[in-house]
Amino acid sequence: MTQTISVIRGDGIGPEIMDATLKVLDTMNLGLQYEFVDAGLAALESSGELIPQTTLDSIARNKIALKSPLTTPVGEGFTSINVTLRKKFDLYANVRPAKSFPNTKSRFPTGVDLITIRENTEGLYIGDGQTVSADGEIATSTSRVTHKGAERVVRYAFELAKRTGRRKVTIVHKANILKSTSGLFLKTAREVAAAYPEIECNEMIVDNTCMQLVMRPEQFDVIVTTNLFGDILSDLCAGLVGGLGLAPGANIGDDTAIFEAVHGSAPDIAGKGIANPCALLLAAAQMLDHLGLPDRATALREAIVHTLEAKDNLTPDLGGTGTTQSFAEAIAKRL
Ligand code: NAD
Repeated sequence: MTQTISVIRGDGIGPEIMDATLKVLDTMNLGLQYEFVDAGLAALESSGELIPQTTLDSIARNKIALKSPLTTPVGEGFTSINVTLRKKFDLYANVRPAKSFPNTKSRFPTGVDLITIRENTEGLYIGDGQTVSADGEIATSTSRVTHKGAERVVRYAFELAKRTGRRKVTIVHKANILKSTSGLFLKTAREVAAAYPEIECNEMIVDNTCMQLVMRPEQFDVIVTTNLFGDILSDLCAGLVGGLGLAPGANIGDDTAIFEAVHGSAPDIAGKGIANPCALLLAAAQMLDHLGLPDRATALREAIVHTLEAKDNLTPDLGGTGTTQSFAEAIAKRL
């Protein structure tokens, strides 16, 4: 197989974890070709744009990108690069698995194995209609949910459950209060769920979901929810399994997909060579699944698990003294 993927090395710890990840992938002889393109601060410096057209063209051509975190400069005039990419390629499903790993700082060492599927293109998170009154006293923001947007992401969740043998989908909402937006999401989700009688489905209000995730995370299998709720819940889930260094995410559209770590560019540890590469490696495993290589994806995940079990060169966030590079090498030697 020869597959070209667009690679964005990103900002902060981005280049360090991307280089480590590509070295591990290279040891797997997958026949992947990399097309390196810029976005974020690197692109702003070289081209004056946060997302140059050449980068958009590369992703449109290859339809698959592996992306390191990007810093969104604080200040007016800079919209989030991630939100822009998701909108541009209509990447409507954000798929974030959270699974217990050995030897992490998780309070739940076993029993968590869930996937949060977050609607990725609408809702309050998109930041539509943001205004502040002239006197700075009143700020507004618009939340927009559509039947089409809700329908396709909930269908994606049920199809994923069916394809991967998962037993249950939980629809998370706040329709008791947000009767229009969350109400439409819930009503649409119920319609979709009716077409999958073989998969158990339940509904849960988002605040209760937070408590249930902390008290009894093992009750969850697949969670599907709107954009902002999914953003927050998936970080909570990352915390359940040992932190952001182990949390991958995939942004999936009908014909394009971008795989990335959930975490950001971690400016506090950038350049020190101690960033945990596992989140991006686990995102690469999601990419291998997407490419129709589930056995290779499983092999990569197992190599990570065995390295964690052996406490071999773990990075400081996991309590070790390893480096990004030595941890990645320890994983690669188990492949
Ligand atoms: P962050 O995720 O970068 O960092 C939060 C904390 O987690 C920090 O203490 C950091 O050191 C630690 N951490 C994160 N990844 C780690 C890793 N791989 N190994 C070890 N420790 C790790 O969040 P932040 O500081 O709020 O954001 C920094 C920048 O990243 C911001 O500009 C933000 O906009 C951007 N960001 C980008 C993305 C993305 O590109 N997908 C996602 C989130 C934040």
